[in-house]
Amino acid sequence: MSKKKYIPKYPMIWQKDDFYIEIFCSIPNIATGILLTTDKAKFIIDPGDGILRDLNKNISKEEMLDISDVFISHGHHDHVGGVWSLLTYLSVVQRKNPLNIFFPKGCREIKSIHNAFLEVYSNELSYKINLIEIDKRKRLQRKSIVIHPFKVNHRELNDDGTSSYVPSLGFKFTYNGKSICYGGDTAYCESLVKMSKGADLAIIEAGALEEDDETHMTMERAAKIGQTAEEYFLVHIPE
Ligand SMILES: [Zn+2]
Repeated sequence: MSKKKYIPKYPMIWQKDDFYIEIFCSIPNIATGILLTTDKAKFIIDPGDGILRDLNKNISKEEMLDISDVFISHGHHDHVGGVWSLLTYLSVVQRKNPLNIFFPKGCREIKSIHNAFLEVYSNELSYKINLIEIDKRKRLQRKSIVIHPFKVNHRELNDDGTSSYVPSLGFKFTYNGKSICYGGDTAYCESLVKMSKGADLAIIEAGALEEDDETHMTMERAAKIGQTAEEYFLVHIPE
C-alpha cells in the first residue's frame, strides 16, 4: 500500500503576543496568501488569487485599509494572482495612505500588473502605490518590524529541459524579539538554511515530489530545515 499523502490544513496560524501570522492557503499552481500583523502593523505576503476574499472573511474593512505593505517573494501567478483585485478594492473603499509593494529585483510580473492597472485606473485611483524593488542585502524596518529579505534559489523549467532562475526572495520578519522566516518558493539553498536556524517560526515550502527537483524541496528536505527553527510549517505541498 502506498504511503498516505500529507495534505496540510489551512489556514495555518501562529501567534506570540501580538505578533500574528495567518497563511490562508499555499497550494502550488493555485494560490498562496499570507497576512502578518502586530498591534500596529498589517502586512500581506504573496497575494495570490483569493487574497481579497480571505482578507474580507478575516478582517474588517478598516483593518484592510490599514494594510501598509505587501511583500512579494516572486512573480509566479500563484503568488501574485490577487494583486489586481486587492489594488482595485483599496481604491473602491477610498484608501488614502500610500501602499508599498516590495518585490525582488528583476521581477517582471509585478511591474506589468502595476502598469496595466494604472492604465485602467490612474484617473480614479484614491491612493499612491509605491513599487519598491529590493535585493538581498537591504534590511528595512516598517512599523517596528525589521524585515530582512534574502535571495533564494527558485527556478522554472524551460521547454528544452534546462531551467532558468526566477528573481526570488525569502523574508525574515523580526518583532519584539521573535522572528518568522518565510522562504517563498525555493530549491534547497544555504540562505534559507541560515535564516531559518533559530527562527521562532519557519515557513518552508515542500513542493517537490522527487529528490532531483530543481525548483522545489521535498518534504524531507524542508522538514530538516524546519527542525532548526523553534517551530515550522511545511507549505506549498501539491494536493
Ligand atoms: Zn513559484
